[in-house]
Amino acid sequence: MFIPPGLAAQQPPTAGRASLVVLGTGTPNADPDRSGPALAVVVNGASYLVDAGPGVVRRAAAAERGGVAALAPSKLSTVFITHLHSDHTIGLPDLIFTPWVLEREVPLSVYGPPGIKAMTEHLERAYSEDVRVRIDGAEPANTTGFRVAVQEVDTGEIFRDSNVVVRAFAVPHGDWRVAYGYRFDGGGRSIVVSGDTRASDAVVRACDGCDVLVHEVYSATRFVTRPPDWQRYHAAAHTSTKELAILAARARPKLLVLYHQLYWGTDDEGLVRELEAAGYTGAVISARDLGRY
Ligand SMILES: [Zn+2]
Ligand SMILES: [Zn+2]
Repeated sequence: MFIPPGLAAQQPPTAGRASLVVLGTGTPNADPDRSGPALAVVVNGASYLVDAGPGVVRRAAAAERGGVAALAPSKLSTVFITHLHSDHTIGLPDLIFTPWVLEREVPLSVYGPPGIKAMTEHLERAYSEDVRVRIDGAEPANTTGFRVAVQEVDTGEIFRDSNVVVRAFAVPHGDWRVAYGYRFDGGGRSIVVSGDTRASDAVVRACDGCDVLVHEVYSATRFVTRPPDWQRYHAAAHTSTKELAILAARARPKLLVLYHQLYWGTDDEGLVRELEAAGYTGAVISARDLGRY
């Protein structure tokens, strides 16, 4: 069943109920209408981000303007990184430093695979002169909000607070040694994010009847238009509409949200049609930036 985007874009999240806000659905393609990959799970006025694609802080500000107070830039304090591909991490310095300049006082908590610590340390070093000038110069600036609390995590439960429990699971993504998907339980819902992955039983197990499965996807129909070396890469690293139709039927989410879409000339409706042509009968929507599900 195709759900028109207008229907799934809900009112501002009601207190206590977890909601998913898609900040950016983009890919490395510099599509001006689709910001870099980033999501937020919002529960009880707190936000938990997944990935930091380019534009993440501005998209969060747009969501705040749209009524999601938890996504005010100064409130962005926790992010889970799926893997270190640049399209998922180029917004990390933005997420570290922009909210600080906008008066966030707490350090940014970053969770992610091995390598995230070194990446974060390099970024801190890269911007050290900016931090020095802001703190020592005339600009009012706190001395805590630019800091980063980074943790390299394994699979299993990696985070728990009064709102959510977060579990990481390993997914196969091309040549990456470690790439994660994440499952959020809290606010009365279960939300599973595939991360970048080829079709994997790990996602089926992580969802297993979950409320929302956010899954990356590429067009199986348009795949044949790609050069052979790119076809080889995409088959090894990503998930086609055909594969996702089979996978999602086994994972049984109440709502499947297509994300990080590679269209190659088709569109949102086209991707949904491909899933349905491949036999998927569950609720499915192709995410747009700032969609809430
Ligand atoms: Zn990606
Ligand atoms: Zn990737």
